[in-house]
Amino acid sequence: MNSIPEASAAAVAGRLTAVRERLHAAAIEAGREPGSVALLAVSKTKPVADIRAALAAGQRAFGENYLDEAQTKIAALEGERIDWHFIGAIQSNKTRRIAARFDWAHGVDRDRIARRLGAQRPAGMAPLNICLQVNIDAEPGKAGVEPAELAALAAAVDGLPGIRLRGLMAIPAPRRDFDAQRAVCARLRRLFESLRAAHPQMDTLSMGMSGDLEAAVAEGATLVRIGTAIFGARLPTV
Ligand SMILES: *Cc1c(COP(=O)(O)O)cnc(C)c1O
Repeated sequence: MNSIPEASAAAVAGRLTAVRERLHAAAIEAGREPGSVALLAVSKTKPVADIRAALAAGQRAFGENYLDEAQTKIAALEGERIDWHFIGAIQSNKTRRIAARFDWAHGVDRDRIARRLGAQRPAGMAPLNICLQVNIDAEPGKAGVEPAELAALAAAVDGLPGIRLRGLMAIPAPRRDFDAQRAVCARLRRLFESLRAAHPQMDTLSMGMSGDLEAAVAEGATLVRIGTAIFGARLPTV
């Protein structure tokens, strides 16, 4: 957090432009409409000044993983037109604050969490948009519903009051090779397409990070979550 604000603002704006160019090129390459992929700027661990720099450069959607940190930033940026996405793991004791502060939650992987989010969404707010997180590489101990259990989870949460089931999210295990990145993104896309028959309102495929956004766009991502490529490397968290 001890960065030089002006230097940092210019750096954020420059990297944001570079990410937009990557997204545009990836969409063209895939034969897709460039406007069909939303950019979520992942600002976890980064100071409010960096979010302001991205805002000034036209970015509106921000993703945060750590609830206490996020709440402080949301309060500091009160009055700005921002869509806040909670993209971290969601334990039961966090649902009330997530439901009250955020527009989206991407890490829903249990029926019970979805019910709590919906029940705790304050009256008068639009339903909380949710994505179901899929453990697409079946990594032991990792968050996300197993692919075989996804259809049952979607059926259980769709239509709950206070939330709106919008799509799927995954964090694949890191791969360097483009074809390997693409293959795992394709698996998530196929799950998404098969679910849409029963849940036609699902319109969001949340996949693609700084290292694999091209592969994700090639396989139909509608929202990419980009941190490092916009805000620079994060210090290791404790
Ligand atoms: C941190 C994080 C990102 C951004 O990752 P980068 O590699 O820095 O782009 C995206 N999604 C989730 C869920 C994250 O936790």
